[in-house]
Amino acid sequence: MSRFFSDKFKTLKPYIPGEQPKSDALSPLGLPYIKLNTNESPYPPPPGVISAVSKKELELQRLYPNPEGALLVSKLAKHYGVLPENIMIGNGSDELLAFSFLAFFTGSRGGVLFPDITYGFYPVYAELFDVPYTALPLGDDFTVNINDYIGSGKNIVLANPNAPTGIALCASDIEKIAKSNQNQIVLIDEAYVDFGAESAVSLISKYDNLLVIHTYSKARSMAGARLAYAIASAPIISDLMKIKYSINSYNVNRLAQTMGAAALDEDLYYKEKQTQIIKTRKYTMSELEKFGFIMTDSKANFIFAKHPSLSGDELYIKLKARGILIRHWNKPRIADYVRITIGTKEQMDALISEIREILR
Ligand SMILES: *Cc1c(COP(=O)(O)O)cnc(C)c1O
Repeated sequence: MSRFFSDKFKTLKPYIPGEQPKSDALSPLGLPYIKLNTNESPYPPPPGVISAVSKKELELQRLYPNPEGALLVSKLAKHYGVLPENIMIGNGSDELLAFSFLAFFTGSRGGVLFPDITYGFYPVYAELFDVPYTALPLGDDFTVNINDYIGSGKNIVLANPNAPTGIALCASDIEKIAKSNQNQIVLIDEAYVDFGAESAVSLISKYDNLLVIHTYSKARSMAGARLAYAIASAPIISDLMKIKYSINSYNVNRLAQTMGAAALDEDLYYKEKQTQIIKTRKYTMSELEKFGFIMTDSKANFIFAKHPSLSGDELYIKLKARGILIRHWNKPRIADYVRITIGTKEQMDALISEIREILR
């Protein structure tokens, strides 16, 4: 720490992203790593997205982007059957989450509830922005007890499906939470919704306190573009805009906007890849079950697993030595578990055969 760092942040513990090895980094076996640690898609963006990055588009890089991403926003609005004033784009959902914490959870209406086991960024934003928060314990089976949230009178953030458990709430449970907390914000982070869960987007027209955030990073194969969007009632979006225009008016770059708009014409491609990932998830789970792994009922593009005789840390280290990266947290309640992203069938077969060797 430099001697200049604000004393406000002396104890700040930033979020630690999963490892991103350099593109030419080799594992101890001399091969590229198989990356199953940050829930990226194993599939490239569709051809329509790639061809949208034309020479003309690259030449236009000299100009600032449209600050609100008007074209992309109007396409997103059509896609979801809402109005453009119900949508705002951001530089990844992480940015939109940060804006939301700042806009709605600070000050005298502030404070927020979220589960004790969930996306690691929520407590980081809360600490950064001095937001009082309560981390409500998930059940022993890692499910969210919705009664903890119904009529809580507190702002709420839920990842649905939750991370890193993959367990999803149904839309009617989200509705009960939104309905019973009409004077509070209910923020639903739907980063993984396309892998088998129900979206709350259709509830936006009914509940003006509901804020849903989607990302292009997972199901749309564009983690590198840093693109996401919030869907909510017009006043919520306009509040978020005020925060954005007070921090970074050109928050989403031109190429990301162009690629994001092109992606909306590729539903068929994405549907096919999502179906494939769900199928590979089922396959991987049934193979790991044969080794004795215990897993949650994941509706995401990852599985959350533990083995009765192999610690989470040990599995993480041994797989890394064999060229496969997965995610492990040394945190209470989940230290026995690992999170494994669903890659291609071939990548999962490599994982399964390495685990077989490790267990031998
Ligand atoms: C991956 C992830 C995000 C971050 O998404 P970006 O759009 O890449 O910033 C947000 N929420 C959850 C729960 C995630 O797992």
